[in-house]
Amino acid sequence: MNVTKRVQRAGGEGAFLVMAKAQELERQGKSMIYMQIGEPDFNTPENIKQAGIRAIEQNYSHYSPTMGRMDFRKAIAEYISRTRGLPVTAEEVLVSPGAKDVIYSACMTLLEDGDEAIYPNPSYPIYESIINISGAKAVPLPIIEEKDFSFDRDTFVKLVSPRTKLVVINSPANPTGGIIAREDLELVAEMAKKYDFYVLSDEIYSRLVFEGEHFSIASLPGMKERTIIVDGMSKTYAMTGWRLGYAAGPRELIEWMSKIIANTASCTATFTQIAGIEALTGPQDDEETMRQEFLARREIIVEGLNAIPGVTCRKPHGAFYVFPNVKSFGRSSQEIADELLNNAGVACLAGSSFGSFGEGYLRFSYATSRENIALALGRIRTALTELK
Ligand code: PMP
Repeated sequence: MNVTKRVQRAGGEGAFLVMAKAQELERQGKSMIYMQIGEPDFNTPENIKQAGIRAIEQNYSHYSPTMGRMDFRKAIAEYISRTRGLPVTAEEVLVSPGAKDVIYSACMTLLEDGDEAIYPNPSYPIYESIINISGAKAVPLPIIEEKDFSFDRDTFVKLVSPRTKLVVINSPANPTGGIIAREDLELVAEMAKKYDFYVLSDEIYSRLVFEGEHFSIASLPGMKERTIIVDGMSKTYAMTGWRLGYAAGPRELIEWMSKIIANTASCTATFTQIAGIEALTGPQDDEETMRQEFLARREIIVEGLNAIPGVTCRKPHGAFYVFPNVKSFGRSSQEIADELLNNAGVACLAGSSFGSFGEGYLRFSYATSRENIALALGRIRTALTELK
């Protein structure tokens, strides 16, 4: 078919493809444990749901401004100021139908042919895909197990060039659960100032940190004016299907980014924004309960995977993913993931679906019940023992 080179450069998300395959197998009668997608298994907290329902009843069903409702932008600005320790105003916030949309808007606003954008690899596959759509060159920054799933400082310095327009970072990270240490963020900041590039800091898992506190690169000296913080409601408030995300960044840049939303979604659904205000300003107990539960599950799954011969699994420091090393099986991670899906009834993702440096690993989301995790571990053990 005669479609553009641009769309041919676009990638997809393995998580959605595997979900469709797993559902098809389940329809055919196979028992399936879903550990492939990045979404909390919890439902949206009651107070947020009720706020959304009330908003519909009160006819908040009209267009909102492209940049988002002012009351919601204010609530976001206060939330970012409080959680990142840096003053952000409502004018520096752009609301979007999902964090993915602000990643897209930022790349479309900052990148073009001839530019380079450095992105972590393995990572959320959409970074590489969107950079490729933009026409810029996607430059992978290897994320290394030996560095506790962070990057090598010398490698990073070598990758930066006068063509570097944007550096994407994600901490805590998908798919590894890794966290970038403060001194490594300081290095990125130092290079950003020296080479005059922007940093897209995807902080969507910032509330799922298991040790210590989340730290944003935007709070380092001179970085607020060159950082786009990306965050949203999907993970923290179990609101994936509501489609609600946002960016906080330099006002002028944010305004340019809103042009992309004006040309695509027009605006974000109004009643979901009202629910978003409740999410950010209402009680936060359910979110802390979720974090505690993820913490307990992390122990179960890490211990269970390490007990399987041939598998080694680091303890992730955030998010709700584990990224075990399965190199000893001498097969591609896609082959192993297919085997687990088709024969063991466990849906997971091949590390390679997060970029070439993810080869040799699998990603399991432990946003599923402890019972499912225990059941899955048994199935994985049986299937992998047969592969040995
Ligand atoms: N960033 C990362 C790192 C993610 O893992 C995801 C979701 N898987 C997103 C952004 C997109 O989130 P949203 O649902 O807000 O579009």
